Amino acid sequence: MSQRKSQGEDAPPEAHGHAIVIGGSMAGLFNARVLSDHFERVTIVERDSFPEGPGFRKGVPQSRHLHAFLTRGRQIAERFFPGLKEELVSHGAEPMDMSEDGNWLTPAGMAPRFRSEISLLTMSRYLLEWAVRGRVASLPGVGFLGRTEVTGLLPATGGTSVAGVKVRSRDHGDGADPEQPLYADLIVDASGRNSRAPRWLEALGHEPPEETVVNAHPGYATRVFKRPEDPSRDWKSMFVQISPPEHQRGAVMFPIEGGRWICSLIGMGGDHPPTDEEGFMRFAGSLRSPVLYEAIRDAKPVSPIHGYRDVENKKLHYEKLPRQPHNFLVTGDAACAFNPVYGQGMTTAALGAELLEGLLRGRSADDDFVGLSRGFQKKLAKVNAGPWLLSTGEDLRVRGTEGGTAGLSTRLTHGYMDRVLALSLRDLGVRRTFLEVFAMLKPPTAMFGPDIALKVLRGR
Ligand SMILES: Cc1cc2nc3c(=O)[nH]c(=O)nc-3n(C[C@H](O)[C@H](O)[C@H](O)COP(=O)(O)OP(=O)(O)OC[C@H]3O[C@@H](n4cnc5c(N)ncnc54)[C@H](O)[C@@H]3O)c2cc1C
Repeated sequence: MSQRKSQGEDAPPEAHGHAIVIGGSMAGLFNARVLSDHFERVTIVERDSFPEGPGFRKGVPQSRHLHAFLTRGRQIAERFFPGLKEELVSHGAEPMDMSEDGNWLTPAGMAPRFRSEISLLTMSRYLLEWAVRGRVASLPGVGFLGRTEVTGLLPATGGTSVAGVKVRSRDHGDGADPEQPLYADLIVDASGRNSRAPRWLEALGHEPPEETVVNAHPGYATRVFKRPEDPSRDWKSMFVQISPPEHQRGAVMFPIEGGRWICSLIGMGGDHPPTDEEGFMRFAGSLRSPVLYEAIRDAKPVSPIHGYRDVENKKLHYEKLPRQPHNFLVTGDAACAFNPVYGQGMTTAALGAELLEGLLRGRSADDDFVGLSRGFQKKLAKVNAGPWLLSTGEDLRVRGTEGGTAGLSTRLTHGYMDRVLALSLRDLGVRRTFLEVFAMLKPPTAMFGPDIALKVLRGR
């Protein structure tokens, strides 16, 4: 894959029809795909160099951990990149039914297994990102500017838009490389949860966005195992859901390419799983179900144990800014990042790209972008509201969560959801709706529809 410095280094007059995406991870790639339909050139500026095949890179340290790509996100990705599923499967991704093939211990008990027709595809995050990156690299007009860091925004005359970004090559590694301008008509920041965009805007005289943080102090420890042959095993994936505040430990394990399992142990409220061999197994043995421990006890580890800590829910309120450059958008984790245990990040990144697709439809490359960023950030905040509610609402059950407390309405919602969950173990229709909400195929409000609410009330 090209990591060329071939695009967008020209002076402003040549920059028409040029869009820049900051960050070449999932949000950046999905948005580049959308922008390639509307711009002559799209440049993805990424501070890392990309591995040749599916593999680790420093800029996405979370990629060592289990990444569930929820069904809704995968549907969008397959629309963006026809044939993606088949490609992933040909590289070893595992198709499964979300309910029938999974052992799922909910806080209310073991979930029933039945054919739900809600499909999942499990694979390593490395494989997913590599396949999507390959698709994006083959799009006409799209180029990657690897090992290059965006260090700020370039002001345009008048201050209502930006002219481009300042970039610095990381090739010499000593910070000696001078900053270079890179001009564009539209700039999309997809640089992740540590995005510097608030500081960049401040440097241009704009107010930075307010920030909301809800932190349930989750921690991960992840290890990959060779999947043992066992014809008697009747499940493909395992999910031991946390059940706070009593049980703040959980785990997810699913098959990935290469005949392997990826197993992420999760501890909330600061009760983080250890990253040493003995501690990891002890933590696995302390879960509410012994099945996962028994499965990995004799499996051969094929990776070290990697930890990841304190990934809070964090939302930057770009939608409330009185003034934001018209042609500068912030999306993906850079705008709103979630506690990852609910698996929503990549799907909301895809939804954000789909939103941009809708807003760009019907515009020509010659149109200006007045009002685009305001409209985009307002709509994106709405897209993120459902996943945010689900993630922070559940996190407020956890002991020691900072940034919010469970008020009356949250406590009532918790009580209602507990009853829905208990009901879903007996009523497959309710379970299906629950799974559809979990897979982001339906909004959380679907759990409050009259059909389910009536059953819950009758159940009381
Ligand atoms: C432990 C863990 C587990 C997770 N599990 C799941 C899961 O199961 N399912 C799910 O959907 N999501 C999960 N997520 C979230 C998921 O990883 C992200 O939501 C997803 O990667 C989309 O993020 P992004 O593209 O916005 O940012 P990121 O993936 O963080 O990527 C940002 C990119 O920008 C680059 N960059 C940063 N700054 C600059 C700069 N100044 N100049 C140039 N480049 C820059 C970085 O190198 C990186 O490539 C998990 C996250 C964590 C931490």
